Amino acid sequence: MLLMIPGPIEVSPAVLAAFSVPPPSHVSPGFVEAHGRAIELMRDVWCADAASQPFIIPGSGTLAMEIAVQNVVTSDDRVVVVNTGYFSDRIVEMLRRRGATVFEVKAVPGTVPSSDAVRQAIVGHNPATIFVTHVDTSTGVRVDPEPICAIAAEYGVLSVFDGVCATAGERFEMQAWGADVYLTASQKAIGLPPGLALMVVSPTAMTRRRHLRDEVPMALDWEQWLPVMQAYEDRRGAYFSTPATNLVLALAHSLSELQVETMPRVFERHQRVADSMRAAWADLGLELLGESGCAANTLSAVRYPDGVGPELVGRIAEQGVAVAGGLYPGLKQQYFRVGHMGYSTTRADHLDQTIRAVKLALQG
Ligand code: PMP
Repeated sequence: MLLMIPGPIEVSPAVLAAFSVPPPSHVSPGFVEAHGRAIELMRDVWCADAASQPFIIPGSGTLAMEIAVQNVVTSDDRVVVVNTGYFSDRIVEMLRRRGATVFEVKAVPGTVPSSDAVRQAIVGHNPATIFVTHVDTSTGVRVDPEPICAIAAEYGVLSVFDGVCATAGERFEMQAWGADVYLTASQKAIGLPPGLALMVVSPTAMTRRRHLRDEVPMALDWEQWLPVMQAYEDRRGAYFSTPATNLVLALAHSLSELQVETMPRVFERHQRVADSMRAAWADLGLELLGESGCAANTLSAVRYPDGVGPELVGRIAEQGVAVAGGLYPGLKQQYFRVGHMGYSTTRADHLDQTIRAVKLALQG
């Protein structure tokens, strides 16, 4: 079965080989080197500066979101969330549980809020932090982070971006744009199996953590993980909690492949493949859920044509390709989702097989 859901995704044979070794000790020289290299390479892939701090923590994308919330938000903080779907709703709930007062800037599903709406929310609510989902996997829309970073910087607001369905697939210039936290997980455009929570954090966000009024749960605390990251980067073994050793070996490999290709080329590749997938859906008479200006490059959320419903996903699977159903509450019966990120974007045969499977499923 070809795995074309929007994460987890197919991984390259080279990444699989890097992963498929007897588990090393977390302080063995080979592992220490791979971990140190992976930390350095994250800055390249995130387009971040030397002062920023990468974190590699065993866990999921949801854990990465929780870590960001717990380290920069304190109870009674005012926060703005740019809400574009299911995963924005999730961060709202995390923030609520942390005790923050949340102001949402919402858009009709399939669209994104305007920069003006974001500016008004910041001016009107005077938040300490703004949270944004770069690509919301439930609706297949992409927010443009650049103007949001500029507005946040203008008003001294910390900016946190959920890049779980975007990092290493959609352009993100952490340094040039001045974003404070860009988080992701290993199972999407980074190109690994699930199991790593990844984020790069600006010095401003690290300072916020240092002066946070509330306690941070120990296992989620950047201050707890920081000496471990620094030790590995200095090529010394360290321990706070056992790293996901095989995944880190695979991470060092996939990040170095991205670095060799260079990030502008990686982003262009995803753009080119997304354009060709969108053209293929149009050829089949299918429409996207997202408006054309904000459709993500990492996945397509495709509306079922008249007379067709969620049973189409099973018929596509019968053709040997796994795609995902809809996810956005209230709309999920109306569309399906196809991932096009990471390794499969280098495989014309994967893309052709996917389009052929959808075509045959529609005919059947
Ligand atoms: N944010 C976004 C945008 C996602 O797409 C996902 C996963 N689909 C998550 C967060 C949560 O990641 P995980 O499933 O690894 O917890």
